[in-house]
Amino acid sequence: MNRRDRRGGTRPLGGLALVLTVAALCGVIFLAFIFGEVGRLAPGPCSWGFGGGRGGGSGEAGELLESPNFGASAAAAEDLRSGVVDERLVSALLELTEEHEICVDAFKEGHYFLPGVKDGPLIPDGYGEAGGLPNTHYHGRAADIRRVDGKPVRGNGADPDVVNVGEVLARIPPGRRPDQTIGPPNWTEALGRSREEGWILDGDQLELHEGHLHLGYRSEGSTSNTR
Ligand SMILES: [Zn+2]
Repeated sequence: MNRRDRRGGTRPLGGLALVLTVAALCGVIFLAFIFGEVGRLAPGPCSWGFGGGRGGGSGEAGELLESPNFGASAAAAEDLRSGVVDERLVSALLELTEEHEICVDAFKEGHYFLPGVKDGPLIPDGYGEAGGLPNTHYHGRAADIRRVDGKPVRGNGADPDVVNVGEVLARIPPGRRPDQTIGPPNWTEALGRSREEGWILDGDQLELHEGHLHLGYRSEGSTSNTR
């Protein structure tokens, strides 16, 4: 009787610890899943300095790496140094940094469409209607901007500074302007730009870009912008 009583007294405590541990683990797994990758739980490249240090790179990529208005993750900075980033994209980012502080967390390396699934030449099935299309990140022709002027894109799509990034892009001549520009629904709505100008307007894609601005070039050397 005594033994059973003693066990009865300790069991609820042990059970509670187990429940709390499992709940904490589930929370971490849930957050990691929601944010795509654990690295993105960090406040963003610009809030913890410049990934991998400044300097290196040649031409405009080198200029971008030196710009005080440009922030990058270590992987993004390394892509600029290695020369894998499309030069039109580098020019467009340089133009943006003349008016805004821009933080890029991924060009090619470290970009994931799906958590834990390594990117390849094609967008994986399961990433909205775009599954199966060429992955512009893989070819160094896309950038993901997470922060503008110190503000996260997530929750600030209609912020005047974030919207102005779109206005600066729209002023770039069609032949050099990204033809795969995607952002949060309210950002896209505030800008009111067209497909002919390079904006992606598909609802599922806007939903997938609540937290960042994606600037991409669909093909090498030319754009599909007609105005
Ligand atoms: Zn992207």
